[in-house]
Amino acid sequence: MEVAIRTGMHRLTPDPTLGVVADDDSRLHKAKLALFELSASGIGPVEVVVYESSIPECKPGYGGGRTMHAIFASTALVEGLAHDELKAMLAHQLVHIERGQGINDRLNEALASGGIRRTAGLAVSRHLEHVADRDIQRFGADPSALAAALKHLPRDRPDSLREHFAKTHPSTSARERRIKIRSVARQVGLRLARPIQKASTLKGRAID
Ligand SMILES: [Zn+2]
Repeated sequence: MEVAIRTGMHRLTPDPTLGVVADDDSRLHKAKLALFELSASGIGPVEVVVYESSIPECKPGYGGGRTMHAIFASTALVEGLAHDELKAMLAHQLVHIERGQGINDRLNEALASGGIRRTAGLAVSRHLEHVADRDIQRFGADPSALAAALKHLPRDRPDSLREHFAKTHPSTSARERRIKIRSVARQVGLRLARPIQKASTLKGRAID
């Protein structure tokens, strides 16, 4: 199975030298079950690929020879998360897939080539992470499980990864705070922002 999804600006893409777990691996079954329980029928087939890595991470891309959407999850992530937490993490990736967030990288590239400061694109990137956290409920995932899952993400990455992640993602505590605020707001019947519109088409381009 192909693991080498597009590299480039994203350093978090699985390294092609990392091994993919076998079809009968229990960690793959755990991830498949979590994905199966999400109501992602509007997106089309999404494959889950579990690869060997000691860093808990997860990201969308393409699988099946780039013919279908895929979520790449490391063994450390799958092993470390409870079922509901894993569902929430996968749902976060589904939001990225639905919104075609490869646009994120393309936006940054366009901004850079247009001479616009990259920080503008990075701000958009961080915003889209909050949006992806917010919209996981649309797939049947639990925001409090996502908050719990975030605690498993490494606070300490190798320098290059940490730097990239810190630029493109809000801090974990900022994400946890937003999740909590939304949860409290829901309890009192407040609506902080409109849910996203369903993407009418998914473009056949890289989503990483
Ligand atoms: Zn994300």
